Amino acid sequence: MNDRSRPTGCRRGRRWALVLALVLASGVPPVVGAPEAGKEPPVSDDKLVKTEAEWMKILTPEQYAVLRKKGTESAFRGQFWDHHEPGVYRCSGCGAELFDSRSKFDSGTGWPSFWAPAGPRSVEPVQDHSHGMVRTEVVCRRCGGHLGHLFTDGPRPTGLRYCINSVSLRFEKRPARK
Ligand code: FE
Repeated sequence: MNDRSRPTGCRRGRRWALVLALVLASGVPPVVGAPEAGKEPPVSDDKLVKTEAEWMKILTPEQYAVLRKKGTESAFRGQFWDHHEPGVYRCSGCGAELFDSRSKFDSGTGWPSFWAPAGPRSVEPVQDHSHGMVRTEVVCRRCGGHLGHLFTDGPRPTGLRYCINSVSLRFEKRPARK
C-alpha cells in the first residue's frame, strides 16, 4: 500500500499502513479479530484440528471412544465422579481448561457434574438428536471433543448441570496458597 495516496495529515492512517506493511513483510497474514500484541488469546479460540488417525495415536481407546465417538462411560466407574480436590479440569484431548473444582457438585448421577464451565468460551453446546432424544451435547470448544451433556436441573446459582465423562477430563491440582 502506498500511503502517499492518502489524504495529507492522516497520521493514524500512515501508522496503520506501516503496521500492515510490516505484517505483510513478515509473511504472517493479518487475522481479523486478532488480539493486540502481547495479549495471549484464550486457549478456546485456538482451534485444534486433527485427523481421526492422529486422534487415535494420541488418545487411549477409552478417550477416543468418548471424545471422538461420543461414547459414555459407565456411571460410578470414572475417575472423577467422587473427586473433591481443588483444581482445574482440562480436556484430556487438547488440554484446554474446561471446568473448575469450585463449580463441581455431587449430582448423585455417578458422573462428574458442574454448574458452570471454567469460562464463557471453554465449552460449546450442540443439539443432540441421538437415541431418540433431544439433548444438549457439550463439546470442548478448542478441539470439538465430546464431553457429556447439559441439563437444566442443576443447583444454584445457574440451575445448570454439566454432566461430564471423567475420561474426557484431566485434573490439575491447584497449588496451595502460601
Ligand atoms: Fe479439547
